Amino acid sequence: MPIVTGATRTRFAPAPTGRLHLGHVANALWTWGFARAAGASVLLRIEDHDRQRSHATFDRAILDDLDWLGFIADAGPVRQSDPDAQAAYAAASRKLADQALVYGCDCSRATFARWHTTHGATWSGPGCPGGCRERGVAGPVLRVALGAGVEGWIDELLGMRSGPVASGGDLPIRDRHGNWTYGFCVTVDDQRQGVDLVVRGQDLLEATPVQIRLGRVLGRAVPATFAHHPLIRRADGSKLSKSDGDTGIEALRAAGLTREAVLARAADATGYRGERPSSGAGPDRSSISHA
Ligand code: GLU
Repeated sequence: MPIVTGATRTRFAPAPTGRLHLGHVANALWTWGFARAAGASVLLRIEDHDRQRSHATFDRAILDDLDWLGFIADAGPVRQSDPDAQAAYAAASRKLADQALVYGCDCSRATFARWHTTHGATWSGPGCPGGCRERGVAGPVLRVALGAGVEGWIDELLGMRSGPVASGGDLPIRDRHGNWTYGFCVTVDDQRQGVDLVVRGQDLLEATPVQIRLGRVLGRAVPATFAHHPLIRRADGSKLSKSDGDTGIEALRAAGLTREAVLARAADATGYRGERPSSGAGPDRSSISHA
């Protein structure tokens, strides 16, 4: 476990669109592990930006599972639906609009697919395949023009990394249902909440360059430090999802597994060897909470 000197705050940021599964437990182990090693605090941030897919029952179940697992956050829970969060997204959007970077877009999946068929290649940005910025479209989607090129960072677990900012197009900041989007919300939140260490799975690697660029455009002088950890995969190599009953914490609890057994299973599957006692049991409650 690398020690990130100078880190003061990280976050655990589940979306209440389902219950926790082993992948989340793996992420929590890495997050609390990094935080404890650095002497940083953990903020619990419920990422309920998608109002259609987020549900209060999942929100409650996540808190209950975290409590059962023994992951105690130092701050939070805070939610992206909180009025102060919504005001912060609106203010950040205005800041981007003041720089003439925000534009409406009416491209759908079909627009991207048509491009692919016509050109025999996947469309890549910046911009959008419909040329909406030039056409002066009202919406329903809002995108931010962050330019081309790449952003690089030194990942605490992967070393030097870089990636394109707009391979899939300019970042949508508001979706067609009127929700502020994931990439926009986390960038605004990480900045305003003082998160200087982001610990997350490698499935989010592609999101990092655009979040670094957007943060800079929004005035963040120094990006957070990033650590992208291995994912837990199914036997066929695919990602776990919230619909995987066999790895859902609810099912594992119902099957009578102990907290230690669940933690050990997640730790083994993600290659986390942090402070796991040699007995094979998971860390005890005091060792994974950051007091
Ligand atoms: N809310 C995201 C998820 O549940 C994680 C966000 C992040 O770590 O940037 O996958």
